Amino acid sequence: MTTEEIPVLAQFGLTGEQAEIRALARKIAQDRFKPRSLEWEETGKFPWENMEILAKAGLLGASVPEEYGGAGGTWLDAALILEQLGSACYVTAMAALGELGVQIRAIAAYGTEEQKRRFLPDVAAGKRICAVSMTEADAGSDIWAMRTKAVVDGDDVVVNGGKVLCSRADVAGLFIVYVRWSDDPGTRPIGAVLIERGTPGFTISPGRKTLGGEDLYDLTFENCRIPSSNVLVREDGFRRMLTAFNGQRCLNASISVGIAQGAQDAAVEYVKTRSQGGGLLGDHQGIRWMLADNEVEIQAARQLVWRAAANAAQAFPSRHEAAVAKVNANEMALRVTDRVLQIFGGNGWVKEMPAERYLRWARYGPLGGGTPQIQRNAIARELLK
Ligand SMILES: Cc1cc2nc3c(=O)[nH]c(=O)nc-3n(C[C@H](O)[C@H](O)[C@H](O)COP(=O)(O)OP(=O)(O)OC[C@H]3O[C@@H](n4cnc5c(N)ncnc54)[C@H](O)[C@@H]3O)c2cc1C
Repeated sequence: MTTEEIPVLAQFGLTGEQAEIRALARKIAQDRFKPRSLEWEETGKFPWENMEILAKAGLLGASVPEEYGGAGGTWLDAALILEQLGSACYVTAMAALGELGVQIRAIAAYGTEEQKRRFLPDVAAGKRICAVSMTEADAGSDIWAMRTKAVVDGDDVVVNGGKVLCSRADVAGLFIVYVRWSDDPGTRPIGAVLIERGTPGFTISPGRKTLGGEDLYDLTFENCRIPSSNVLVREDGFRRMLTAFNGQRCLNASISVGIAQGAQDAAVEYVKTRSQGGGLLGDHQGIRWMLADNEVEIQAARQLVWRAAANAAQAFPSRHEAAVAKVNANEMALRVTDRVLQIFGGNGWVKEMPAERYLRWARYGPLGGGTPQIQRNAIARELLK
């Protein structure tokens, strides 16, 4: 039995239906995705077939409302699924993050009826990938410094500017692009538009290779003209779009929990078979304590993520709870995966062995979806207000 499968603790706080979703996601992730996780990283290919498997199982549409073809699930449902994907295959977890995360929830919460009907059913079916792009060369953590500009021109909107570090731009059919509606300073002029792949004036750079295996892309908009029906959020919408990101923070944190759990499961198996110093590795107290420390940290982090996600229900999680869960889970996964690599010794450094990949995967969490430094700023702001 792996630590993940200890029944009572693992099911704490879940409904029967959520426990089933979790078990289904785990089975698919372990049986179908884990064996090829390194292959997806090495080829850099988008895991379309894994997305199809998730769509057929009804898991990919967990965040899409039922009337648009999805399962109408909660944030906790999405977190449970992504934790399992994170424990098995980072590339697949990152591929599914958009469909389970902020992109889809933002369209479902703020989109027009026509936008929801046009875009959401294909997302739930795994046929259309939706990317989100806010980061710019000079606007990362300081996102309100973004300069990509949208100007209304008759029935159209014309977009000019550039974005960087966009995930999944090679395969996305739809992009949620954060724009500035005027040059006024601050967040008030910031909103978002929907731009479809192939729109004239919209170009995507070649992929930039990354530590995690998935490529990242730069986007350029030169007099890119879209119909005004593609406006998702007008001026004064930035706060609403940021609220949506609180959900993304929970999901990013749940992937971190999954990565840590996957690494821990690998270590538990390894120490039962590797002999050193006249006994199994698992007989040495120094090793056992590392495993115990991992267990304590993983379980605590999972509960914070579940709390933040569960408290949100169908709306968005709270800024404070999401930030607390994210900082803790991201940093916990770095500590756990580092200990696991140490437990594997020299074998931990070897590609075919599992430890090194978990350590690399864990490094994403504190970079995406708002860094721990920015989350700490938000936590302290809440405490001191
Ligand atoms: C794998 C991956 C996928 C991504 N996918 C997307 C995507 O799909 N769409 C998208 O829009 N973006 C994406 N990003 C970009 C990501 O959102 C940014 O990298 C992140 O917001 C940080 O911005 P930055 O890289 O410009 O770092 P910077 O803002 O330049 O920060 C650099 C460092 O300084 C710290 N720092 C910055 N400001 C402060 C402060 N006020 N106080 C203390 N410390 C501070 C940061 O925490 C960080 O450690 C992705 C990034 C990665 C790694």
